Amino acid sequence: MSNRKSEIEANLADVKSRIEKAAKAAGRSADEITLVAVTKNFPVSDIEILYELGIRNFGENRDQEGSIKAPQFPDDCIWHFQGQIQSNKLKSIAIWADVVHSLDDLSHAKKLSSLVADQDIFIQLSLDNQPNRGGVALDDLDSFARSIAELGNLNIRGLMAVAPLDEEPKLAFARLNLLSKQLVKSLPMAGEISAGMSNDFEAAISEGATLIRIGSQILGVR
Ligand SMILES: *Cc1c(COP(=O)(O)O)cnc(C)c1O
Repeated sequence: MSNRKSEIEANLADVKSRIEKAAKAAGRSADEITLVAVTKNFPVSDIEILYELGIRNFGENRDQEGSIKAPQFPDDCIWHFQGQIQSNKLKSIAIWADVVHSLDDLSHAKKLSSLVADQDIFIQLSLDNQPNRGGVALDDLDSFARSIAELGNLNIRGLMAVAPLDEEPKLAFARLNLLSKQLVKSLPMAGEISAGMSNDFEAAISEGATLIRIGSQILGVR
């Protein structure tokens, strides 16, 4: 086995056991939690290793990368776009991304809706109300979700968020969990939570994350 493969395999095993532990501590089953390996800035050869190790969910932040990498892998892979959306890239993103995690702008939603038969999406929520870091403001969530639901072909899987820099992640994710529960009352199919990265995924799992996005803890820092 190559050095790189054994390194990734060990990192992956460590992350998986931490997921198990965090799920157990929260009284949840690890089966409820999908691990997305964030492969941005890493080469196709690393994704091939992850594929051999059984990973099927991959996350990318840039259309320029995802559009080149995704077509090189079998159809059983699920590709997640989680970066900031640029309107002129939506057409390409819709081709390769199975799930768009970072929808926070109604004009993007309308454009995406016009380009696809249907598309899984998450609504990105701002947990600190600092609009420059992306995400819909808390106060706007209800009307934003309603507008997206009305488009008819964007399947809202749930909420996505990144923990603020200046707050205990568990507190921020608790807020996210509460908002998710409220959202589900009007949109029963939108109960998933995409939250948790290398430095805070255990906190996210304790607050109900169903999908965690892990890069550096598996692949290292680039
Ligand atoms: C890069 C990135 C991740 C993964 O971050 P790590 O800290 O490397 O695990 C997850 N989500 C988003 C939105 C990212 O940009």
